Amino acid sequence: MMGEIICGIDLGTTNSVIACLDQGKPVALSLEEGSAIVPSVVSLDDATGQLLVGRAARNRLAAFPDHTIRSVKRLMGQEASIHLGTRNFTPEEVSSHILHYLVENASKTLGQSIQKAVITVPAYFDDAQRRATIRAGELAGLEVLRIINEPTAAALVYDQVSWEEPDDSPYIMVYDLGGGTFDVSILELKGEIKEVLASCGNSALGGDDFDERLKDFFLRHLKQKTGYELPEDRALSVRLRDIAERTKIALSDRPFFLVDEVAVAFIDGEPVNLRLEVSRSEFEEMTRDLLESTLEKVTEALQEASLEPEDIGRIILVGGATRMPEVQASLSEMFDRPIAHSLDPDLCVALGASVQAGLIAGEPLGHILLDVTAHSLGVRTLHPYDFTDSANDHFSVIIRRNTRIPVSRAELYYTVDDQQPKVDVQVYQGESPYCRKNTLIGAFEFPLKPAPANSPVTVEFAYDREGIVHVSVDQKGYNNSKSVTLNVRQKTLQTESEAEGLVEKPVNYISEKARRILADERLPQELKDALIKLTGKYEQAVLAGDDDALIDELEDQLLEKIEQAEEGFETIG
Ligand code: ADP
Ligand code: MG
Repeated sequence: MMGEIICGIDLGTTNSVIACLDQGKPVALSLEEGSAIVPSVVSLDDATGQLLVGRAARNRLAAFPDHTIRSVKRLMGQEASIHLGTRNFTPEEVSSHILHYLVENASKTLGQSIQKAVITVPAYFDDAQRRATIRAGELAGLEVLRIINEPTAAALVYDQVSWEEPDDSPYIMVYDLGGGTFDVSILELKGEIKEVLASCGNSALGGDDFDERLKDFFLRHLKQKTGYELPEDRALSVRLRDIAERTKIALSDRPFFLVDEVAVAFIDGEPVNLRLEVSRSEFEEMTRDLLESTLEKVTEALQEASLEPEDIGRIILVGGATRMPEVQASLSEMFDRPIAHSLDPDLCVALGASVQAGLIAGEPLGHILLDVTAHSLGVRTLHPYDFTDSANDHFSVIIRRNTRIPVSRAELYYTVDDQQPKVDVQVYQGESPYCRKNTLIGAFEFPLKPAPANSPVTVEFAYDREGIVHVSVDQKGYNNSKSVTLNVRQKTLQTESEAEGLVEKPVNYISEKARRILADERLPQELKDALIKLTGKYEQAVLAGDDDALIDELEDQLLEKIEQAEEGFETIG
């Protein structure tokens, strides 16, 4: 006879997850099509009178907006009445249906009924919101043993991990970017107890806003293409937001994504297709301010806790939207250290809640062994505007150290010369920005089809559980690709050969644009020289993290030159 099960539940604004301990180890239970992530959406089906939860409900958002509710968590603790069709619900009642759905399906999966739970709430939830959450649990037939803060839950699960290097700072930062909310918390470890020292955030900022920016971008594109201002009807809006989210998620693993959707709208009965390529740098540019506003909150939280970035030990990324590489990159810059997801950011709050459940039940907890990459993995690149000896020794990271495996990531590079015959793909692992200080894992030649300088080449790494990396290179648009398999766990000797052929990626959208223009044969020599110089200065300043005023000034100068060049092209035709 097995003991009774206490589960942990992350009742999220956008998604919810249920987890429990399996022989002392927290596991998230897969409930829908193999996924543990259940959309926090409830919809009333008028025909059957049934309430649908999860994906089935989310799929009804467009068609049955008056019968469907998302983000009910925002209303918890308020005297709100939610109308689904002709029926009315309180926020607790809607939440209780989500909880009931999770518990019922989890019980089926486990073959054992679940009656007790630990549920998480945001650190900023007040008493009324916490009580409403307990009430939702009770309405779902659960005994709510404890309500714990989401950042605390995330920290709890990270506690169970056996780390290679001990963490001697008592301060932990949890950065949580979900679908509709952003929270940053700083915790202090006092013995076994984790105290929330500071908690800041923006309850109206999350992954949805990133989708919204892409959606607007699509609308502008459609307007340009058709010459029509498309009426913003609900169906188009939901459709475009869905395409936007898929694009955003694809761009987390790839440097560009081809959107190819038929009949997103109709003009005079004629279907309008949406077909365009979006690059990650373009996406990052259109959402930069959103990300920056989260960094301001991080600074605020540090101030509130009277701490400096270097005082913080572990940095924990929570929330699906932290999978965007720019989130990791900007935090990594701010805290001056590599930052990666060691556990799934969308599951770790629920996992932590199940650890808390285990602590309450007095169950022995096992250590979590992380399946992560031991070293950063990348390729050797040239930096065209680095005028030092290290110009062709840059280590461009594709998969960061401590990233959970299996994982697949691709990055975009450019060729150096016109009609360049090949690129030497040299794969290194290590943490130095220079390849000579890292370990060479393997190298191979990739013959190119004739193309102008600055042609894009993508390099993709697919890293599996056995430590095998499948490297694929692709000359974009030339139907030319090659794949090679390497074993990263077998150490290879360092060789001293010089690589030629791959250029470091541009530092941002502006330098990308400058480089595109530099590759244009129509560019007059004088302007080209000036642009090369300025691009070099600008990229170096950005890479070196020079002060903002200087970067801004260089940026203005560069933009002016770009504009000048573009005007020139127009007159050339
Ligand atoms: P919440 O805590 O608000 O319930 P989640 O932590 O589940 O939400 O995060 C949901 C958000 O994460 C959504 O905006 C979703 O688009 C985003 N997201 C999920 N996976 C990715 C990904 N691979 N890249 C970028 N965003 C992602
Ligand atoms: Mg969450």
